[in-house]
Amino acid sequence: MTARIIDGKAFAAILRESVAEHVSHLKQRHGITPGLAVVLVGDDPASQVYVSSKGKQTVEVGMHSYEYKLPADTSEADLLALIEQLNYDLSVHGILVQLPLPKHIDEALVINAINPAKDVDGFHISNAGLLATGQKAMVPCTPLGCLMMLREYCGNLSGLNAVVIGRSNIVGKPMAQLLLRESCTVTVAHSRTRNLPDILRQADIVVAAVGQPHFVQSSWLKEGATVIDVGINRIDQEDGTTRLVGDVDYEAAKEVAGAITPVPGGVGPMTIACLLANTVTACCRAHSLPEPKGLTV
Ligand code: NAP
Repeated sequence: MTARIIDGKAFAAILRESVAEHVSHLKQRHGITPGLAVVLVGDDPASQVYVSSKGKQTVEVGMHSYEYKLPADTSEADLLALIEQLNYDLSVHGILVQLPLPKHIDEALVINAINPAKDVDGFHISNAGLLATGQKAMVPCTPLGCLMMLREYCGNLSGLNAVVIGRSNIVGKPMAQLLLRESCTVTVAHSRTRNLPDILRQADIVVAAVGQPHFVQSSWLKEGATVIDVGINRIDQEDGTTRLVGDVDYEAAKEVAGAITPVPGGVGPMTIACLLANTVTACCRAHSLPEPKGLTV
């Protein structure tokens, strides 16, 4: 079997188009422009790339982008003061603090200082609790993007066996909650899991969020499984350059899987598109307007 390739780039382009349409409606019919504030502390090169890409795409869909670039030695108190200011700013509907933060700043304290209604990353403890209890939440962008692609490729997910590898608060746990909401039978695997290959062989859906290049072997997969590869790993090549690979041994896995996301070009583009979607959702909720269909779950 050769798998269908799940084209996250194309999927993200369609989602961004839909976001842009909703933004245009909000402007024309209600005189509202959604605004996203992104806060970066320090000069981590990867974070700088992510932040500038988020800002660019925010503007491209017609929203306001507010970027706050703070020095690495910014105090926790100053960062909390900025968050408070953004919480009260009516032109800001979404707030994202780029992680990781410098070591002297308590990440959980900062994330939980964001107004949960503006927490477009969905990392606030209130949003995690709302998601876990099946209530209306801001859903973390990466798992949201994965779910959108799974729904598209698998249709009804009810009753399917899903294995999520990884239990981080930003990917693994919210992914498992979303799949549970879809009535999948969900197993969450982690570094202490025994017999992972045996568990994976039962899985109709595999979501790999491990952070280890080519970790998931094709021989561990059930024939026809849908494989979502969240991993982004940079590996060295023989010619001295580097390249990005996922957590799944893609070349071999695509001969066994029914559908699979490539890396790059799979989950990554969907994550930013879902951030834009979440900002529109947050804006509609803030103004008590009906929520656009298809932008969240
Ligand atoms: P993380 O916080 O480091 O979590 C990794 C998880 O993998 C942990 O739960 C860990 O288990 C588990 N794990 C490690 N070794 C394992 C093993 N041998 N067998 C089974 N499980 C194992 O990572 P993360 O933030 O969730 O990110 C995971 C990957 O996704 C990274 O490559 C990251 O760059 C990527 N990512 C991509 C996007 C995107 O937009 N595409 C977004 C976010 C993250 P323990 O809990 O037991 O340690």
